[in-house]
Amino acid sequence: MTKDYLKDASLATRVINIGIDSDPAHGAVMPPIYLSSNYTFEGFGKKRTYDYARSGNPTRSVIADVIADLEGGAGAVMTVSGLAALDLLWQDLNAFHPGCKRVVVPHDCYGGTQRLLNARTKQGLIEVVYVDQNDDAAMAEALSVPTALLLLETPSNPLMRLVDLEKRIAEGHAAGAKVAVDNTFLSPALQNPVKFGADFVVHSTTKYINGHSDVVGGALVCTTEEDVTAYRWWANCVGSTAPAFDSYMTLRGVRTLFVRIRQQQQSAQAVAEWLEKHPAVSAVYYPGLPAHPQHELAKKQQLGFGAMMSFELKGGLDAVKTVLDAIDLFSLAESLGGIESLIVHPASMTHAAMSPEAQATAGITGGLLRVSVGLEDADDLIKALERAFNHL
Ligand SMILES: *Cc1c(COP(=O)(O)O)cnc(C)c1O
Repeated sequence: MTKDYLKDASLATRVINIGIDSDPAHGAVMPPIYLSSNYTFEGFGKKRTYDYARSGNPTRSVIADVIADLEGGAGAVMTVSGLAALDLLWQDLNAFHPGCKRVVVPHDCYGGTQRLLNARTKQGLIEVVYVDQNDDAAMAEALSVPTALLLLETPSNPLMRLVDLEKRIAEGHAAGAKVAVDNTFLSPALQNPVKFGADFVVHSTTKYINGHSDVVGGALVCTTEEDVTAYRWWANCVGSTAPAFDSYMTLRGVRTLFVRIRQQQQSAQAVAEWLEKHPAVSAVYYPGLPAHPQHELAKKQQLGFGAMMSFELKGGLDAVKTVLDAIDLFSLAESLGGIESLIVHPASMTHAAMSPEAQATAGITGGLLRVSVGLEDADDLIKALERAFNHL
């Protein structure tokens, strides 16, 4: 499928070129959107490539090819949301570990992922085990019992804690588990889990891959043809495949992934350095700062530090209220990875479903704010923070 001239091309080139000039009907440079829900049979028993849009759609196929290529997978299953991609994962545990339902996940994984894992555990589909993935002893203990799947998420939300991919993936495999990595926070432009041995990569394409905050979608990248086939079957079976329009929008968005995220992380670095020096701030969590406890690991396993960070205001919740009431330019909203800068108060917004005890264990305090740095000018973002902090 991949063109010869792309063999040695960088991912930044491939993301632009895959699917370009591939229209057999009219030579359209940009792959057209196919909205039709159904496709004719050429004749009796003569099915074409596509028959019904839940099971297959040409627009969805192009974005799947692009994401699979970026992640170095054999194929990608495009879903209606990131959670739908994750939920596919456990549908087929029996295939790779008969009789075993055990799924080991980070104790600080995405809140929606936790809700889903808990609901599926309650149903009896899986058995979830939460573990602090930076605790060697806890990891060893969790993997000392037969495990079907190890899910990793790095950096974590909202405290930007990293997990050593090479080490943990090897441990998962040694325990007989398949390993999936949620790569939403960095995108394939900045982190390639398959290079460290991951069997699956999961994305909420809602975030950096689409990058424009106008689509909710997901992708499950598999490294074997067998898993691609199995999970495409499941996505069709449960009806969670991505709509054509969303696929088209996401394809349009992903073309600029590299330029977006490179610019965003450059601004993020400037914002983080400014925050670190500000007297109202007691801590900044950004892997690009030498003070970040895993700065060296970030340099080793990431291709950049990303554009997500969080910071702690000395004045706690009162200071948070003052800043959030005064802030402009940043939108007070959940989600991340779009062209627009966002600020969020994890304790009352993204992580509100967690109990106060669970929040405390995860290090989510009342004074913590998370920022997704967008494509505005970095100086303007810093000025906006300065204006808001002047109210303190
Ligand atoms: C947003 C997010 C998800 C869930 O994706 P949806 O597209 O909202 O369903 C999963 N993992 C991470 C890390 C996320 O940020």
